[in-house]
Amino acid sequence: MKNLIGDIDLLDGNEALATHVLPDYKTGQSRKLYIESYGCQMNFSDSEIVASILRKEGFDTTSDISQADVVFLNTCSIRDKAEQTVRNRLAQIQSLKKHKPEIMVGVLGCMAERLKTKLLEEERIVDLVAGPDAYRDLPKLVAQVDDGSKAVNTFLSREETYGDITPVRLNSNGVTAFISIMRGCDNMCSFCVVPLTRGRERSRDPHSIVKEASELFALGYREVTLLGQNVDSYKWSAAENNKARLEKTDARDFVNFAGLLAMVAEVNPDLRVRFSTSHPKDITEDVLVTMARYENICKNIHLPVQSGNSRIIELMNRGYSREWYLGKVKVIRQILGNDCGISSDMIVGFCSETDAEHRDTLTLMDEVQYDFAYMFFYSERPGTPAAKKFTDDVTEEVKQRRLEEVISKQREHSLQRNRLDIGKTHRVLIEGASKRSAAQMQGRTSSNKVVVFPAGTRSRGTYVNIRIHDCTAATLLGQVEGE
Ligand code: SAM
Ligand code: SF4
Repeated sequence: MKNLIGDIDLLDGNEALATHVLPDYKTGQSRKLYIESYGCQMNFSDSEIVASILRKEGFDTTSDISQADVVFLNTCSIRDKAEQTVRNRLAQIQSLKKHKPEIMVGVLGCMAERLKTKLLEEERIVDLVAGPDAYRDLPKLVAQVDDGSKAVNTFLSREETYGDITPVRLNSNGVTAFISIMRGCDNMCSFCVVPLTRGRERSRDPHSIVKEASELFALGYREVTLLGQNVDSYKWSAAENNKARLEKTDARDFVNFAGLLAMVAEVNPDLRVRFSTSHPKDITEDVLVTMARYENICKNIHLPVQSGNSRIIELMNRGYSREWYLGKVKVIRQILGNDCGISSDMIVGFCSETDAEHRDTLTLMDEVQYDFAYMFFYSERPGTPAAKKFTDDVTEEVKQRRLEEVISKQREHSLQRNRLDIGKTHRVLIEGASKRSAAQMQGRTSSNKVVVFPAGTRSRGTYVNIRIHDCTAATLLGQVEGE
């Protein structure tokens, strides 16, 4: 099972705990900050904002925890396993603190927001707790701990977007970068803790987004991914960036997601634009038509379905049915064609899900033929609507079996979808050396498939036409056209 998952880059509830450590950045500052980030790309992006804020306060970053003066864990609460991993890590850091008692330990992100001061009581080692909207306050919080007290700020803002802060791009390959375009989420998917930990939805000023994209292009970057929990819900006006408040006004001169996509695509035709995540109920035809209009907007949509059964989708409060979702996929295919990549998230074993309802997820997968999927078993999160209203009554054993079924189904589909590319030529943006061999390079197609090909003399950050001659479920293999 583990091999299967590793082989095809599919993630189950245990594998999805990606961890990132910000690398060394030495400018001769007096103190050293170590940040370890868990969970989603949004957290990795936030850690770069934190590093940027603290750099101005005299901090370099280190990737060696034993060298650090301050250790931050930027945490995830999406599944119970994610929180347990952080607690285990804190126990390890405890032994480090025995040898170096002056080290400061902070917990940032979703777990900080969810547990607030309780975290200080439960984890004695923690000195500082800061929620996702409190990062501008970190210099003050660090100073407070320096003065001998514990420090907490878990205030959730209705406006904060960190729009004016340029993140330090420490984890970058110099070719692709993430740009956060909004924060929070106004949906109430019943299983999800995000609205509780990241607050109300706010959209970032589009001019600051375009400025960041232009600066990245000037630095040699050739691809940006616009990030948000629900990017299609993006809505900004000069007077108001809070979605709920903006909806109550009669403002006409607002920018929506289709408008933002076009603005970023106009930065340069050689700058590729991607985005994630799309909520099926919010993605509009306007967005699909804008994607079709610009060659440099990548033809790939992450469109999480969560379940293929309408009763379960309704219990999840997702705002669509199986048929409606399939209709949306049809429109995507009509406007963007069969080559457009479509990926998904699936949760198996949600409260009261029967075997027959689980099979509906498998048949929906057959109908859509996803290129890729992240698959999880349901993990009840305290305080969510599902935890309050429903019983987590599907056994671990059944959840595990259903997860294995969706993973092996997805494996078949990934392979089938990749096989369709054999014999085709794709424009690939080169990201660097292949992970497996320095004699090969790798990049991605517009539809977000990884392509591996012989290195030759090409350099990363350039485009090359690759003819595909073979594939696995995870990778396309090809040759530079004409060679
Ligand atoms: N905002 C995005 C969306 O709506 O698709 C993604 C949010 S979440 C960070 C990523 C994925 O985690 C979700 O799409 C869902 O499949 C999964 N997830 C969220 N809550 C979960 C839970 N309680 N148990 C298992 N998986 C969960
Ligand atoms: Fe969670 Fe739903 Fe918001 Fe995604 S759209 S972050 S799943 S509440």
